[in-house]
Amino acid sequence: MTGEQYDVVIVGGGFAGAAVAKTLAATGGKRILVLEAGRGTGMSADKYASHVEAFQASLVNTPNTPYPNNPNAPQADVLDIRQILGQPAPDQPPHSVTDTAGYLVQTGPLPFQSDYTRALGGTSLHWLGTCLRMLPNDFELQSRYGQGVDWPFGYSAETLNALGTMAQLGQDAIVFVMDNRVFAVEQWLINADAFCPTPNPPAFAPLTMVPQGHIWDYAKLAEGFGGQGFTVTTNGELSAVLQQIAAPPVNPVTGRPTFTLVAVQLPEKSLPANARWKMTCD
Ligand SMILES: Cc1cc2nc3c(=O)[nH]c(=O)nc-3n(C[C@H](O)[C@H](O)[C@H](O)COP(=O)(O)OP(=O)(O)OC[C@H]3O[C@@H](n4cnc5c(N)ncnc54)[C@H](O)[C@@H]3O)c2cc1C
Repeated sequence: MTGEQYDVVIVGGGFAGAAVAKTLAATGGKRILVLEAGRGTGMSADKYASHVEAFQASLVNTPNTPYPNNPNAPQADVLDIRQILGQPAPDQPPHSVTDTAGYLVQTGPLPFQSDYTRALGGTSLHWLGTCLRMLPNDFELQSRYGQGVDWPFGYSAETLNALGTMAQLGQDAIVFVMDNRVFAVEQWLINADAFCPTPNPPAFAPLTMVPQGHIWDYAKLAEGFGGQGFTVTTNGELSAVLQQIAAPPVNPVTGRPTFTLVAVQLPEKSLPANARWKMTCD
């Protein structure tokens, strides 16, 4: 590469680097170099197959199992995560013990409890498919934090826009709104003990509260768009509603089939059984 000239050099070929490279390349006329520390072994079918085989052959499967550690570009391994707190000396405050044993040096109260991949493709290689819903503040980055731009519509309008589109297109989808009035996954990541029963579990973090869940009547909202709306709180009520919605309703304005919305009200402390391992009270 000696003597090569580039207009743009992007360090790291993960999600962000790839998106920036593609966007810049589309503008044309620029020489762009993506510098990636890890191997590009996912680029051919046979090499990719070797990752699948490594995953299948391993006794313990973690997101990094398919991707061998590269001594030239080491990566964090979830099996290598150490207890972050240890026992601080009597004169030290909590969280003061620094963990330097693993790849990641973690000092804060909330350890990063996952892998990190160093290979072309970055963490997209073991992206787990979680698509977290945006928070109200995400739509107002400029006005709230002076960063980027505000979205042309707000958080509430996202829901209204989706329902309005279904009404307009005559879509006869059945929409289930699981309304437990919190962002449970986010709270689980912050502190799963908030889901513990009394006495004195930690409070839900303010950013995980969903104000709409306390004040919106989702069934009426559906009716406002010419759809059909139900609110259920028990399995029996849900079964009864499912019997009723076999045939799609007709929008009285358009005369076309339209959507049904079922608001399922859940207790905010309802957590799936497979997520309860993180609660220290269970
Ligand atoms: C196990 C796991 C599962 C995840 N699942 C989800 C999910 O389901 N949903 C979700 O929204 N998010 C998920 N994430 C988070 C998401 O994958 C990351 O936010 C995203 O990949 C970040 O993209 P990035 O391009 O900024 O960084 P990365 O994807 O990490 O890419 C960085 C790249 O830079 C390279 N690099 C690093 N240092 C150098 C250097 N010095 N020189 C050259 N190259 C370098 C690395 O090798 C890597 O290829 C997950 C993360 C992990 C770890």
